[in-house]
Formats: sequence, C-alpha cells, structure tokens
Amino acid sequence: MYDLKSPTVKLPRRTNACAAEGCRGECRSWSRYCTRHARRMQKTRDPNGRVFSPKELKAYREMAADHLIRKRNHPAVLAASRYMHTCLTSPALPAAVQTEMRRLYGEGAEPLEMLLRFLAVFGLMHFNAHAIGRDVVATFNLGRAVLLTVPMGKRVSTSGREYSYGLNARVCESYGQILRDNLGLFAAQFWDDVEKTIHGPALASQALKKALEDVPMSEDVR
Ligand SMILES: [Zn+2]
Repeated sequence: MYDLKSPTVKLPRRTNACAAEGCRGECRSWSRYCTRHARRMQKTRDPNGRVFSPKELKAYREMAADHLIRKRNHPAVLAASRYMHTCLTSPALPAAVQTEMRRLYGEGAEPLEMLLRFLAVFGLMHFNAHAIGRDVVATFNLGRAVLLTVPMGKRVSTSGREYSYGLNARVCESYGQILRDNLGLFAAQFWDDVEKTIHGPALASQALKKALEDVPMSEDVR
C-alpha cells in the first residue's frame, strides 16, 4: 500500500537548516540558504563566496606589472594582450558578456590593463590556492576583475533619479570561465616564471652554499 499522505518531494520549510557549510541559520522561505548566505550566493555564485579586496590583490598586481614589463615582447604576452583586445568587440561571447564589453570598449578600456587585472587575481589564486576557497569563487573573481577595468556607472531611473548598479554574478562567472579556458595556461606559466624570477637569487645562493659544503674552495679539484 502506498502512503498517499506523505509527499514524495520534500518542500523547504522555514525550520530547515541553511545549506551553506557550517551554518546553523534557518532557511529563508523557498531558499536553500539563510538570508546572509542567500545574499552571498546571489552576489558571488557561492554561498560562502566573496569578492577579493584590492588590498589582497595589490602585491600580485605589482608583481604582474613588473613581470609584464620584463616580458613585454614575449610572443605569449603579445598574444594575451591581443586576446583581451578581441574580447572588447567579439561577437562570439555570450550576449550578456558582450553588453559589458561594449561598456568597456565605449569607456576606452586598455587591453593591457584588462590583462593585468586578470593576472593579479590569477596570482592570488596561484599562491594561495588553499586559502581562497572554491574554484567557482576564483572564476567569479577573475571575470569580475576584468569586467570592472572601467567601474560601473550610474543609471537613471524612470523617475529621473540616479542609482548605481552592480555586475551580475552569473556574467562574472561565465566570463571568468572563458578567461580561464583561453588564458589559463598562459597565466599559470606567467606566475611560474614570476616565482622563478623572485626565488631565482635565493635558489642560486642555496645552490652555492651546498656546492661549497660539498667541495670547499680550499680543496683542489682536478
Ligand atoms: Zn546560512
């Protein structure tokens, strides 16, 4: 006998716990999350997501800028910069991304600045993979950083009032994924190379110390 009284689909109720990891909050009605996590989900595509701050990106931005100057004539750097340039007018991007690209293009966004913003977020991911959380958060931040090469403007409502508006998190995530697919390999090698450049002198001095321990200068080597 079937028990017709119990529904086969369990509907969310106010008393359910929030689906975000480690949260004991109550679900907002019809949401899997409490108010705080639902808001974060909407803003960053992850209930525990966040926007990387300019402060934590600063050091990576500076390192990337220095290294871009060092490697400015490298074919891969030129190609990556050209790729950013094509994004501005590409008809192949999703429509919602194209809308943002038209905004960037109209405001005169520089492809090299777009690349630098992408590399800064990628650098933070590269050196702090364990600390930045889920992959989707990184992807969202990559797209967001480049889409904000030119800050969002104000819109005027029908009543004539100005209001600021934010970027759509889905658009950030989808563009972030496109960037990872197209520039991920370049960015990973770029940061490996930065690392070598930074650690280069330290590694060389370690190697020198080891060599002297193995064979002191006083020893004759034939
Ligand atoms: Zn919650």
